[in-house]
Amino acid sequence: MTDKVLVYDLDLDQLIGLFGEWDEPKYRAAQIWHDLYKQLQNDPLDFSTLPKGLRNRLVRNVLFRSLSKEAESISRDHQTQKVLFNTKSGYKIETVLMQYERRRTLCISTQSGCGIGCVFCATGQMGFQQNLSSGEIIEQVIYFARQLADHDDRLTNIVVMGMGEPFQNYDATMAAMDTLNHPEGFNFGARRITISTVGLTPMIERFTKEKRQINLAVSLHAATNDLRDELVPINRQYPLENLIEVCQEYVSHTGRRITFEWAMIEGVNDDLAQAHSLADRIENFLCHVNLIPLNPTQGFLESASSMSKVTSFQNYLHSRGISCTTRTRRGIEIDAGCGQLATK
Ligand code: SF4
Repeated sequence: MTDKVLVYDLDLDQLIGLFGEWDEPKYRAAQIWHDLYKQLQNDPLDFSTLPKGLRNRLVRNVLFRSLSKEAESISRDHQTQKVLFNTKSGYKIETVLMQYERRRTLCISTQSGCGIGCVFCATGQMGFQQNLSSGEIIEQVIYFARQLADHDDRLTNIVVMGMGEPFQNYDATMAAMDTLNHPEGFNFGARRITISTVGLTPMIERFTKEKRQINLAVSLHAATNDLRDELVPINRQYPLENLIEVCQEYVSHTGRRITFEWAMIEGVNDDLAQAHSLADRIENFLCHVNLIPLNPTQGFLESASSMSKVTSFQNYLHSRGISCTTRTRRGIEIDAGCGQLATK
């Protein structure tokens, strides 16, 4: 453990404040942000625009790297790369880079473990360990941005769908998004970021009021309360009627489409009765349904729906005028589903 502040935890005003305490001019903060987020450097001794004394002071007082790589797996087709990191407090998190055609999508974590306990999720099976700081969330992005930059490549999308429920670590997650989106920071377009929640309705309401440009996805997985209570236990606290209502409000207040995610589980939630109930709940507002054949985990014995079931489900939603696609399963052999590497 170290008491040094992690540089990625500081927004621009906080960095200016720190330099004020050090009697350094304000513009030094912008210089450091440039080195961190544009040049993707993480050794202050390489910050050539800074005087040597300041570089040494940064080394002594500020932490520039908090995540250490513990393990890595790469799929046979080299399209999916998963890294297991240790945080400076010794907790494990996972980050996954998916490179398909021209897309470079990074799936980042906001917590180590997760306390929500969705029954089919390896992270849920771990239980909650710790909230990540905004800097630890950002550092995952910078790690992979640097790796891609070495090959003259760059991230195209960020999905906040890794370990943890981001809306249970709302402030740190949004602080990270702000720095990633900041023109003087990483300058990554908010519309290329998607944040996924399991449906904490008060936080969806807060997100709606903040009118952010980030895309919102809600993990639904069931359209009846009795089934969703089983799969996603937080449904007992925030039942479907309440959840769908705040989703509708999100769409009407922001004018933005919402995505519903649905893990397709053979014989559990993949019948036409569920598709029918789902369509009844969502057909009147701007939304999209993403069907995801279940990623197998050790703690949940059910399996992914057959493709014929997935197709029937999708066709039914189309027949009701609902936009719907099926996400291809990737990285199965490297346990790319969230939490699968850490639980090993
Ligand atoms: S699916 Fe998401 S919210 Fe549910 S247990 Fe896994 S990480 Fe937590």
